[in-house]
Amino acid sequence: MATNGAAPHQTRRTFAIISHPDAGKTTLTEKLLLSGGAIRAAGQVRARGERRRARSDWMKIEQERGISVSSSVMTFERKGIIYNLLDTPGHEDFSEDTYRTLTAVDAAVMVIDAAKGIETQTRKLFEVCRLRDIPIITFVNKIDREGRHALEILDEVQEALALDVSPQTWPVGMGSDFFGVYDWQKKQFHTSGGDRGGPYADTKTLSGLDDEALTGTVFDRILDELTENVELGAEGYAEFDKESFLEGHLTPVFFGSALRDYGIEEILDFIADFAPPPHSQPATGGRTIMPNEDKVTGFVFKVQANMDPKHRDRIAFVRLCSGTFKRGMKLKHVRAGKQIAVSAPIFFFAEEREIADLAYPGDVIGVPNHGQLRVGDTLTEGENIHVTGLPAFAPEILRRVRLSDTMRVKQMRQGLQDLAEEGLVQIFKPDLGSNWIVGVVGALQLDVVVDRLRAEYGTEIGFEAVPYTTARWIETDSQTLQKMIEGHRMSIANDRDDKPVFLFKNAWEVGHITEKFSDVTFRETREIV
Ligand code: GDP
Repeated sequence: MATNGAAPHQTRRTFAIISHPDAGKTTLTEKLLLSGGAIRAAGQVRARGERRRARSDWMKIEQERGISVSSSVMTFERKGIIYNLLDTPGHEDFSEDTYRTLTAVDAAVMVIDAAKGIETQTRKLFEVCRLRDIPIITFVNKIDREGRHALEILDEVQEALALDVSPQTWPVGMGSDFFGVYDWQKKQFHTSGGDRGGPYADTKTLSGLDDEALTGTVFDRILDELTENVELGAEGYAEFDKESFLEGHLTPVFFGSALRDYGIEEILDFIADFAPPPHSQPATGGRTIMPNEDKVTGFVFKVQANMDPKHRDRIAFVRLCSGTFKRGMKLKHVRAGKQIAVSAPIFFFAEEREIADLAYPGDVIGVPNHGQLRVGDTLTEGENIHVTGLPAFAPEILRRVRLSDTMRVKQMRQGLQDLAEEGLVQIFKPDLGSNWIVGVVGALQLDVVVDRLRAEYGTEIGFEAVPYTTARWIETDSQTLQKMIEGHRMSIANDRDDKPVFLFKNAWEVGHITEKFSDVTFRETREIV
């Protein structure tokens, strides 16, 4: 791909990998990083001395503040394209963190296990991408093992996700009979390296599957079947259409094996050629932020706390939406109405962190702070706008917090408030009674809350069941709200921003109350600005 003369943001590809646990996300991530060399270089190559200084600056921050950041963002460069791969949490519990990370990407790679097809987590994550019209590239993994027939997998993706599929490559055999991959767009035959593992042993460019170069080779045996399958595939599935892909209606499908390095280059080439550069970002007041605007804007999609209990420092992950960010810049923290100097922004690489001197739309910088920045915050060069589209979700699990040592109410509340700002839990303060209620989307988040309050705030808590199963944000005028509070005081609470919430006992009550207060809007999500 020619990148000469392109604006820096046009060379950015910011994406995430979505999958069900065990499908191969970690292995694929590793292989993508390896293939990209996992370094950020061209155009920004610095003198070695300067590089060393930058690195030691970062290490100093890491030591002084004790911040330890897992690989939430991995940046690498390949053939002039900067790939920013944003990690989504791998555990089965579906957290809001994942949703919000997906608000910061422009495309997603969906990894499917060839033997298992679409699994529950894949489907949930896919639905989030669909809500946001994020284009999806499908990678059918583990074709080095016995799996389902390629046609069966394509049908499943098409039907289960109601998505047009457009196969880009075709597996030639599977499992012990695996010979290689046929790239029917490029008309190339990639031959498997056999037992030696590693990437393709050979690549032949063909005129088609009837190319004479194939006769007499090991492929002869399966050529008829392959030709038939490929013909069926060509008839049964969509031709690749870039518009349709970018709108999220069509997914290109690649077959490969992350473990054996099959299909890695194809995916990276495809992302470079077809995945979109940074998209425009909606903001308050009907404003749309365009990546080519001069002024810097960005938003926090994730906050990671310090793992060291002695410190309260956090890293806010900021996705840049427009402008050229320069180290040391003063940016307006819109919610707080204050200027902040971003003096030690961080870039994340596979193996190291580095102080970010320059960053462009699509890039993610880490901003160390003492808790001023929280998920959903917008940074600008002065404009009073908030980026929109970062939702808080109605929790699926609600619990009342029980405190063992009542002398520690203050620490507990501070802790819960902090964790809520990180986006780990939601807190609800009931109108009646003083014990806070926490809400989460996945049960695992509750364990994390207990552990972190103990470790970081020296506070032992437990949870009690509550009669509520879900919450909805209430949108109405103050008079109606007052009337609601009078009639349903037990069910009303305020969230961490003092926004009113109705706590429902069950689905029947949701229906009943919604009907009773037909002029009130009950929201399942709330914009977190
Ligand atoms: P994750 O849970 O999605 O991150 O999955 P991992 O990358 O950890 O992979 C889960 C298991 O599948 C590991 O044992 C991997 O070695 C294995 N695995 C991943 N990719 C492949 C592949 O292409 N072929 C085979 N045979 N195994 C694979």
